[in-house]
Amino acid sequence: MADIYVFIGPPGAGKGTVGEMFCEKTKAVHVSTGDILRQEMAAGTDLGNKVKGIIAAGGLVSDDIVAEMVENRLKKDDIVANGCLLDGFPRTVPQAEALKGILQRTNHRMAAVVLIEADNEMLITRLTSRRMCSNKACGAIFNIIAMPPKKEGICDRCGAKLYQRTDDTREAALNRLDVYAKQTAPLIDFYEAEGNLVRTTSTNDTPEVNFARLMDALKK
Ligand SMILES: [Zn+2]
Repeated sequence: MADIYVFIGPPGAGKGTVGEMFCEKTKAVHVSTGDILRQEMAAGTDLGNKVKGIIAAGGLVSDDIVAEMVENRLKKDDIVANGCLLDGFPRTVPQAEALKGILQRTNHRMAAVVLIEADNEMLITRLTSRRMCSNKACGAIFNIIAMPPKKEGICDRCGAKLYQRTDDTREAALNRLDVYAKQTAPLIDFYEAEGNLVRTTSTNDTPEVNFARLMDALKK
């Protein structure tokens, strides 16, 4: 029986970064549903071929198929030995219910569902901090928090004006956060009722500090 973890967090909260640190530290296998889909297609399994057909026809891969792929993956030796961090699954309550059945059948244990909470204004600042060079031949990318240009609004490399992509605007960020909140609220309720939910907060501290806080919440 291995420990299975799920991290839930809004865009901009650094879920990917702490997830990577978590897998490095605990040896848990990082399992993303996107990777499983690609692996099954590359291996040419029956499921993989089915998915290929669906994607080629412009369709959406159903919950059942994703669940079946996750179940296959969780039976593999590396996860039996080290457990895993599931990325991208479950996203909905029906998927969470499917996962519950999968864990029973594969004899794994839901160790914790980590909910990463963060201040909305901080997330908006992060999600809107990217600036692109308007000179297509240059293509430099800046970040006004993490990697600001020497002169505001001007590319260090070529001197052209910087601009903000439409998906990096405050409006777009608000929309992404809104979609996240609506999508995950039922999932949070589900895992709270299951007694699996562990809350941690992401702040403007370094990733190391945020990671230590997360491990603390997990009592690990
Ligand atoms: Zn430039």
